[in-house]
Amino acid sequence: MSTRAHNFYAGPAILPVSVLEETRDAVMNFANLGVSILEISHRSKEFDAVIQEAENDALAIMGLSAQDCAVIFVGGGASLQFAMIPMNFLHTKADYLVTGEWATKAAKEAKMFGAVNEAASSKDKNFNYLPKSYKFSPDADYVHITTNNTIYGTEWKSIPDVGSVPLISDMSSDMFGVKREWSRYSLIYAGAQKNLGPAGVTMIVIKRAYLEAKAKEQVPTMLKYKTHVDGKSLYNTPPVFGVFVLGKTLKWIQKEGGLDAIEARNQKKARIIYDVIDARPDFYKGTVTDKSDRSIMNLTWNLPSPELEDKFVAEAKKKQMVGLKGHRSVGGIRSSQYNACPVESVEALAKFMEEFYAANK
Ligand SMILES: *Cc1c(COP(=O)(O)O)cnc(C)c1O
Repeated sequence: MSTRAHNFYAGPAILPVSVLEETRDAVMNFANLGVSILEISHRSKEFDAVIQEAENDALAIMGLSAQDCAVIFVGGGASLQFAMIPMNFLHTKADYLVTGEWATKAAKEAKMFGAVNEAASSKDKNFNYLPKSYKFSPDADYVHITTNNTIYGTEWKSIPDVGSVPLISDMSSDMFGVKREWSRYSLIYAGAQKNLGPAGVTMIVIKRAYLEAKAKEQVPTMLKYKTHVDGKSLYNTPPVFGVFVLGKTLKWIQKEGGLDAIEARNQKKARIIYDVIDARPDFYKGTVTDKSDRSIMNLTWNLPSPELEDKFVAEAKKKQMVGLKGHRSVGGIRSSQYNACPVESVEALAKFMEEFYAANK
């Protein structure tokens, strides 16, 4: 596939070539049935195997058991989870760590269902750091945290201690890009289009005991986690195509050596770019003030002027490097280096950064 660009889009984002090839084949002929993955019943035994395997593989990657945790696949994006979480689990009060635009949106939905305590916020400095102290409520129904702030380039390396309060996490942009203490979370959700698959499907991992003990009853059927857990994601037609591609991506993660190997490669890729930034601090200005907060998935920096930033993006594009423009709400440059982004692409970007520095400093 010589036509593959160096893809740094933040999402929808790069997928492994082997996954694209398997998907292409299944679009024409799925499981040798003479029908496309786009043309088959979600209740066929062949698709049932796809969804079961995706659930099992996700649990295996995390080292969790199906007895303790359910994995479900739903539509509506991570943004629907912002509302479903409080609808199902906010009885009185919830704590939110407000560390970016997505975290802010999550807290906004929760306010419709109960009291929201901002346990910490980094809004005062346009989210360019992660708070180091928190005011958790001991009686909160849950604490919500966004592990990786896709737009601002910060990522929690260790998660604050929330005691016995249930922990709920939006991991959309670093799910399976780094290892986490999976068993600490009562609920994890991730829109697939950053690091797991195509747009249209969201993966949710939920502790069965938490669901049994704490979920509210008076919730519309489709918005109830219990509906999808009991129905094994087949209460209604799930995002069949998205689940298929996500399932292939999970197999790819395992083939690559699991999360140890994946995270090590992501660390290496991040270091390549941060080394250039740190060597040229007057030209490449990292936006995250505390280096220990820097994301290994989404790396953000500025150049001395917006004009130079536009030039950087345009020249990079001529060299087949796409998706480097920062989010519209912050500007600057953002390099998203998800699991499927090869080391070679990151090396090409680092080389270009040095050339651009020499020509424009
Ligand atoms: C992209 C993103 C979202 C929004 O995802 P949608 O699927 O578009 O709703 C939410 N949270 C984080 C951390 C994200 O990166």
